[in-house]
Amino acid sequence: MLALLVNVSGVPSAADALGTRVRRLPEMPAGGCRRRSPDCGGKCTSFRRGFATGLEKPWNRGGQLNRASSLARNHVPVKTPRMQQLAPGIYAYVQPDGGWCINNAGVVIGEDTTVVIDTAATERRARLLREEIAKVSLRTPNLLVNTHFHGDHHFGNAQFSPPATIVAHEVARTEIIEAGLGLRQLWPQVEWGETPLTPPTLTFHDAITIHAGQTRIELMHLGPAHTTNDIFVWVPESRVLFAGDVLWNGVTPFCLMGSIAGSLQVIERLRELDPVLIVPGHGDVGGPELFDANEAYLRWIQDIARDGHASGLSTLEVASKTDLGEFAGLLDPERLVGNLHRAYAELAGLAPGARIDVAAAFGEMVAHHGRLPDCHA
Ligand SMILES: [Zn+2]
Ligand SMILES: [Zn+2]
Repeated sequence: MLALLVNVSGVPSAADALGTRVRRLPEMPAGGCRRRSPDCGGKCTSFRRGFATGLEKPWNRGGQLNRASSLARNHVPVKTPRMQQLAPGIYAYVQPDGGWCINNAGVVIGEDTTVVIDTAATERRARLLREEIAKVSLRTPNLLVNTHFHGDHHFGNAQFSPPATIVAHEVARTEIIEAGLGLRQLWPQVEWGETPLTPPTLTFHDAITIHAGQTRIELMHLGPAHTTNDIFVWVPESRVLFAGDVLWNGVTPFCLMGSIAGSLQVIERLRELDPVLIVPGHGDVGGPELFDANEAYLRWIQDIARDGHASGLSTLEVASKTDLGEFAGLLDPERLVGNLHRAYAELAGLAPGARIDVAAAFGEMVAHHGRLPDCHA
């Protein structure tokens, strides 16, 4: 997620500064909860206002809930990842609870090809993913797709390649190489294990199709969104969409390194695909309601940024005075600050995806949050 952070000028010192905060983080008990609330034996952390409706109901039932509750999630224990079948030969690998560096992956098994979509942040998590894939695919995966350049999605590449060929957007390869393993420095307490940098070797710009026997798997790039190099994996026959970090479920979207306006445009294009099931980059599998939920958050960011900008407020000032309202239930709400930075850049006329000082923005996010965001990878 933050790999870029250690590659812009002056950033290693910023990372060091963040590192001093890391050491003050409390230990996370194994299997414990990320949040504290009275009904959780004190192991969880109460973190929301409002959302009573969303809290009382499952939030992921195919669009039956209103927009707010479809975004909301209760405190979620850090649980074991699970392989979830979505259609014959198509699986989502969901890693709860979807917070920083806890991403989803996927598998599409054709007659002569097994395609893995993203890996995991740590050696342990990537090995587990490989083991779980071996339970559903007799064949060793021969293709691996990286949806974008963030380390949580590709640090596990070496568990699959060789023999798998790694496919990604042209710019993702460039940024993976440029960013290296810098993300590991941000959260040194994480047991990263061996994650040798293993960049994609097959790249494209706009679209490419994998013919896995009779199964057609379309990879497409639709412009800057979560980053400048997001690609989507679309299986038209089953109408399953692997959305990478352009869509989130129960987790705060994050566009610091991409574009708010671009994300909204890309989401509109993805809607046209008319997917039945969507595997977000983080959070549980959902349906088309994820379009509405993510779009609502991004439009809200644009609204509060526009007001704040017009009033001459800094992004931190806007964040401080903002009531998260219906979005208070999303995990990792501190991303508000990073998103405001990107929205301000766009209000100032910067092109979607243009580079901004992400280290400074992240530093402000830490300041607003009061500490480094939690990472339980
Ligand atoms: Zn990402
Ligand atoms: Zn991610």
